[in-house]
Amino acid sequence: MLDTHNIRSQFPILMQEINGKPLVYLDNAATSQKPKSVLEVYEKYYTEINANVHRGVHTLSRLATEAMEISRKKIQKFINAEKDFEIIFTKGTTESINLIAYAVTREIKENDEIIISYLEHHSNIVPWQMLCERTGAKLKVIPMDENGILQLDFLDKNLSEKTKIVSVNQVSNALGIINPIEEIISKTRKNSAAMIVIDGAQSAPHFKIDVQKTDCDFFVFSGHKMYAPMGTGILYGKEKMLRKLNPFHGGGEMIAACSFEKTTYADLPFKFEAGTPNVGGNIALGSAVDFIENIGHENIAHHENQLLNYAQEKLLEIENLKIYGEKAKKAGSISFNLENAGIASDVGMILDKLGIAVRTGHHCTHPIMDFFNVAGTVRASFAIYNTFEEIDILAEGVKKAQKMLR
Ligand SMILES: *Cc1c(COP(=O)(O)O)cnc(C)c1O
Repeated sequence: MLDTHNIRSQFPILMQEINGKPLVYLDNAATSQKPKSVLEVYEKYYTEINANVHRGVHTLSRLATEAMEISRKKIQKFINAEKDFEIIFTKGTTESINLIAYAVTREIKENDEIIISYLEHHSNIVPWQMLCERTGAKLKVIPMDENGILQLDFLDKNLSEKTKIVSVNQVSNALGIINPIEEIISKTRKNSAAMIVIDGAQSAPHFKIDVQKTDCDFFVFSGHKMYAPMGTGILYGKEKMLRKLNPFHGGGEMIAACSFEKTTYADLPFKFEAGTPNVGGNIALGSAVDFIENIGHENIAHHENQLLNYAQEKLLEIENLKIYGEKAKKAGSISFNLENAGIASDVGMILDKLGIAVRTGHHCTHPIMDFFNVAGTVRASFAIYNTFEEIDILAEGVKKAQKMLR
C-alpha cells in the first residue's frame, strides 16, 4: 500500500483551504503540483550556484553546467534513451513539437502527407498545419469512434511512400484515453518511411516510458505535468534523426564557429539548445525524475489506476452523467458532463466553491469537443497524491451541482 499521507505531506500547496474547504486538486493534467524536494533543488540552484552554463571557466558556471548535465542523464535513463545527447531541453511539449515541425521543413515537399489523430491537443495539430502551409504538404487525420477509440484501418488505407510524418499522443489529455501507439508505430514502419513523433505529455507522468522499445523517432513531454517547474520540457530524438534535422532557433550555445560569412553548428544536443536555457528548471526536472523513481512507476500506475476506476464507478452512479470514452482504456484523466444540468463551466464553478479544482472547457482540443457536439467537458485528473476520499468529495460535489443546476 502506498503511503499517500506521507506523499501528500511533501506537497505544501495541498495543505491549504479554498473557499473554506480543504483543497481537492484534480487538475493534474493541466499541471501537477511540485514536491518539496523539487522546490528545494530549484531554490538551491538560485541561492547557491546560479551561473550561465557551458560558458564560463569559473566555479559556479562549472557547477551549474555539471548539475544540468547530470539532470540530462537522469532524463535519459527515465525514458531509456540510448544516448544522453538525444535529450534536448525545451520549455515544454508545445515547443518540442514546434521545434520538430520547423526543423523538418526542408525534408517535406508539396503533396507529402502528415498523419495525426482526432485525439490530439492543439499543439500536435497547429504546428503541422503551419508546416503544411510552408510546404504544400497535406494533413490527414486518423478518425475515432463514439468511444474515442482510434480507427486504425485508416492507416492501412492511407500510409504510403508519401507519408513523411506520423504524430500522435500516447494518452489523450481531453479524455484520458490510452492510444495504441505500438500498433500505430508497427503499421507505420511496415507501410512507409515516415518519422514517428509521440506526444507523451500525458503518459510520462503516469507510466514507464521506454523510447527504444517503443521505437519512435521522437518523444516529447512537459516537465510541469510531472512534478517539475513550468517552463521545462523535453524533446527526445534518435541520434540519426537529430543529426539530419536543421536547427530551430539560431543564436548562442548552438554554434561551433560563427562568422558573417558562415556559421557551423554545435554538436548534439547543443545544436537545438540556442540561448540561455532554464538551468534551474532543468535541474529541478532531474529532481522530479528522482521523486517519481523513488516512489516507483508501478506503484504510481497502480494507485492512479485504482483512483481512476473508483472515480468512474462513483461518477457512473450519478444519473444522466456521461463519461466520454467510457469504455476505452484510460490513464490519469476522466472527462464527463451532466446531460441535464448546466454546462461544464457551471459545474466547475460549483465544484470550486467546494474547494475542488477540476478543469472545464475544451482542453485545447476543439475537434474532440466538436465530435461529441459539446462546448466543453468537466475533467478530473489524478496524480500520485490524490486519495479515494477526494473522489468521494468530487462525486458528492457533482451531485450537489446537478441539484443546483437542474
Ligand atoms: C499539455 C499538453 C500539451 C502541451 O504542453 P505544454 O506544456 O502546454 O507545452 C501537448 N499535448 C498534450 C497531450 C498535453 O496534455
